[in-house]
Amino acid sequence: MFGFRHIPLLLAACLAGAPAAHAADAGAIHQRILTLDTHLDTPMNFARPGWDMMDEHSVQSDMSEVDYPRMVKGGLDGGFFAIFIPQGPRTPEGFALALNAALKREAEIRDMVARHHDVFELAFRADDAERIVKSGKRVVFQSMENSYPLGKDISLLKRFYDLGVRMVGPVHFTNNDLADSATDPKGPEWHGLSPLGKQLVAEANRLGIILDASHASDETFDQMLALSTTPIVLSHSSARAVFNHPRNIDDARMEKLAAAGGVIQINSYSDYLIDTPPNLAREQAMRALNRRYGPFQGLGGEKLKSYMAERHAIESQYPIPRASVDDLMAHILHAIRLVGVDHVGIGLDWDGGGGVTGMEDVAGIPEITRRLLAAGYSEQDLAKIWGGNILRVMRVVEAKASRP
Ligand SMILES: [Zn+2]
Repeated sequence: MFGFRHIPLLLAACLAGAPAAHAADAGAIHQRILTLDTHLDTPMNFARPGWDMMDEHSVQSDMSEVDYPRMVKGGLDGGFFAIFIPQGPRTPEGFALALNAALKREAEIRDMVARHHDVFELAFRADDAERIVKSGKRVVFQSMENSYPLGKDISLLKRFYDLGVRMVGPVHFTNNDLADSATDPKGPEWHGLSPLGKQLVAEANRLGIILDASHASDETFDQMLALSTTPIVLSHSSARAVFNHPRNIDDARMEKLAAAGGVIQINSYSDYLIDTPPNLAREQAMRALNRRYGPFQGLGGEKLKSYMAERHAIESQYPIPRASVDDLMAHILHAIRLVGVDHVGIGLDWDGGGGVTGMEDVAGIPEITRRLLAAGYSEQDLAKIWGGNILRVMRVVEAKASRP
């Protein structure tokens, strides 16, 4: 599986003489292959006042990174649209409100697809992806980031399966009743999965839902991998060997993930790609701004304009280092060289903090294809990385489900 991994470097040397033809090929290849991103936080924008998926927006004007016109420009055929609910109080009231919020978000995804059914379609099985793309539409799989909305009732997962959720991660920034997070400042609470989290793994396997260990602690990852009867994925994570951050995965674990048939989908979240030292003055200014305006997703019209102007002023007053496409490629290429083209994919965390200098939004993703071709990888390799691998995992998960 790993024996031929240096050949692409030799090919790159041979191809270096024909850059123009190469660039044209890259565009055509990117259009030809099925491209899926496994972590789109775009549904957080669906209820924004005046925001429509069919309008072309910009990061500069409203911070959004994905809409239909930019998906077309970037040649993204679709992906997993996340139902993300932030971790809140672990109380009966907190659970009930989180469940309602998750069901509302799921309905917003459906509403978006219903409104724009001529160009989007909900997908439920791996085979749906190619069929939808062939019909000229974009693929909308649904995933759940943070299983906090399930509270302590794992049977609720079936409700989300029935609505179309096909990927689930137990935890987000802090520990919850299911698992330890990679980033909880308090450290481990369960040393991996809780007893309830172990039930979540079994139920996801039973239903046919892909398990996603992004945001999970190392111990949680190990236990998900050991307990799951199917390959698991990291829907948006990067390489700890390239930048040492707890949200990234180390080489030994990446190799275990691959050996079990899984995939790491590389993230473009700058703070996980390079060292960005904390900037307290900037954080304080941003906090004060957000206190005055409330969540930016609630802003529209003139209020949004003045919020963005103040935000840009803070950003230029207190600049922080930002990752580049080179930095992102360092993570992608490290992962491919370590575990091979069958076990690496793309999950850029658009609208959830993703984006690097030179690839500000989804319109910029053909650059990844160009860089991988320049590094000597083939169209066949690109097809695996951009969608083939995640669909392979999905087919295994579907085949092993005892409730198909
Ligand atoms: Zn995330």
